[in-house]
Amino acid sequence: MTTRFLSDGALKQFVQALMAKGPVIGPVARKSRFVFAALEAPEDLRLDYDTTILPPKKLFFPTKQDLVKFDSPSSFSGCVEPKEQVLLGVHPHDIKGIDMSDKFYAANIPDSNYLAHRAKTTIIGSNVQKHYKHAFFGSVCRELKPQGHDMFLTRLKGGYLVEVRSKKGEELLALGKFEPASREQAAEAEAVNAAAEKNCPEKLNDTSDSVREKVRASFGSDIWNELSRDCFSCGSCNIVCPTCFCFDVQDEWNLDGVSGVRSRCWDACLVSEFSEVSVQGGSENFREERAERYRHRFMRKAVYLNDALGGPACVGCGRCSGACTADIANPTVAINTIMER
Ligand code: SF4
Ligand code: SF4
Repeated sequence: MTTRFLSDGALKQFVQALMAKGPVIGPVARKSRFVFAALEAPEDLRLDYDTTILPPKKLFFPTKQDLVKFDSPSSFSGCVEPKEQVLLGVHPHDIKGIDMSDKFYAANIPDSNYLAHRAKTTIIGSNVQKHYKHAFFGSVCRELKPQGHDMFLTRLKGGYLVEVRSKKGEELLALGKFEPASREQAAEAEAVNAAAEKNCPEKLNDTSDSVREKVRASFGSDIWNELSRDCFSCGSCNIVCPTCFCFDVQDEWNLDGVSGVRSRCWDACLVSEFSEVSVQGGSENFREERAERYRHRFMRKAVYLNDALGGPACVGCGRCSGACTADIANPTVAINTIMER
């Protein structure tokens, strides 16, 4: 792995050079929060952000996305138009979330739409400089290391330690004034990233394996009624999650009755309509009770997807905790409570 040092001044020039080649999407301030958005100037970039409202998966899997346009029953065309882009400043746990999405969308019938956008995106990660108040990435999903990025920046005094992770990342070196990095700087960066994991404000108390077994065994327990009592079934905990990947497909017809567009939008298993299906003469909801839906989210995150991913489908970003008006979505609270019973 190639390592380099990039001074603060050289970072600005590097970002400018990236922007000259195409869109650069990074964390930018929006009032008191941060979002991933296209940079209009290098100064917009806020690598000192705590978290973003939505995870970076929105770059490859937009909240609403046209899939197919049709003019008649036999005439249709795809809407996939991926463009080269750079996603800059992704935290390590959010890179793990992208790695999981990559697996979900490549499995079974590969999702060509997602994969086409993903293939056109260069990812430059960056270390956590400031913790989100609900982050617990240091105590969950430690089995998995972030993989899907091309370059990684760690804040040091006066600049950044730069780790090159792929051929695409290697090519980026030509765009900036990168200096040789010393062993001391590499060791300092390692310590900075280890401290970020250690100093998370929230924590899961048990290992992924013990959590998986205890949560699985709790399936028939009353604890799910207790934990979900105040749930509004709003789905916010799903919508902000970097590892949730469900969507709904809808056709919108034009007035001519033959043409229109098929699109997809993010969906949420906490919303009651999610599990409602048509049956002859009516409909059936196979997770009618909110406790069933609430439990399903935790089963997916802590149990069902572990085998496919090699770890839990939660990266400890804490976005769900902050998004829940009822203050009941926090995985550390729910899982630690289950583990203690
Ligand atoms: S379940 Fe919550 S903490 Fe875990 S990845 Fe999803 S939003 Fe982040
Ligand atoms: S747990 Fe919270 S965020 Fe999730 S659906 Fe219920 S009320 Fe909404």
